Amino acid sequence: MTKIIAVANQKGGVAKTTTSISLASSLVSLGYKVLLVDLDPQGNASRGVGLDISLLSRTIFDVLTGKREINRIIKNTVMKNLDIAPANLKLASIDDFINKEDTSSPLLLKNALSLLNDQYDYIIIDCPPTLGILNTNAFVASNRVLIPVQCEYFAMEAITQMLGAIRNIQNSLNPNLGLEGFVFTMFDARNKMSIEVSSEVRGVFKEVTFQTVIPRNVYLAEAASKGIPITVYKPKSASSLAYLALAKEMLDKELIEKRENKL
Ligand code: ATP
Ligand code: MG
Repeated sequence: MTKIIAVANQKGGVAKTTTSISLASSLVSLGYKVLLVDLDPQGNASRGVGLDISLLSRTIFDVLTGKREINRIIKNTVMKNLDIAPANLKLASIDDFINKEDTSSPLLLKNALSLLNDQYDYIIIDCPPTLGILNTNAFVASNRVLIPVQCEYFAMEAITQMLGAIRNIQNSLNPNLGLEGFVFTMFDARNKMSIEVSSEVRGVFKEVTFQTVIPRNVYLAEAASKGIPITVYKPKSASSLAYLALAKEMLDKELIEKRENKL
């Protein structure tokens, strides 16, 4: 069965997109077939895997508004087994198309993805930095939410808001939604703030915080600007190895969960 993971945090610039692309490409390098869904009108995930978003004639917007089937908009990337459902600025007008009274509007993405019939091992959804209809659609369509945390001021406030948003969806539209966990991004061990915030978050959420920490590393921005995932662009870099370790830690956790469920 496909595991669907929303990568979300309403705080901007915390490495949601970088984590979506790099986790997806790490899972591919470990032998899995992965679909990256760009659910952000900024289209950064699409750019990050090499697409020119100004040239896209079909995007996830057409899927959500019922004009195209998801299979018709999916594109290949430089990595075999990594596909993308792209987005561009058009997605910003989704609110105008959605009738707020229509109770099916939070289900648009879930219904669209159900047509994929387990073609992928993982679907990673890159969410926008807002808690609106797009994030709601992502949470309703997903099994898990992965929350990248940048160790900066107000990280804890953002976490609390995210947990509230997840709980709302669990109590209404998706009782099966689980927390994949928190992952620290752009971590700098020489920075006092990094140490303070990470130990505060670990203190409260030890069980659901990944051991793997993503270090600050200039190659990630470079890889994004070239439209090549880090695992291909600089496979030996600290950040590439860290995202690979994150993918492995996630897979290990899955194995443990599967064993526990069987007992
Ligand atoms: P938004 O909220 O706008 O969608 P985001 O949460 O998706 O932002 P990214 O776009 O992934 O964040 O990252 C923000 C910036 O930080 C980008 O320029 C990215 O290249 C850079 N960045 C991300 N992770 C790292 C890292 N570990 N080291 C250095 N730079 C990083
Ligand atoms: Mg982003």
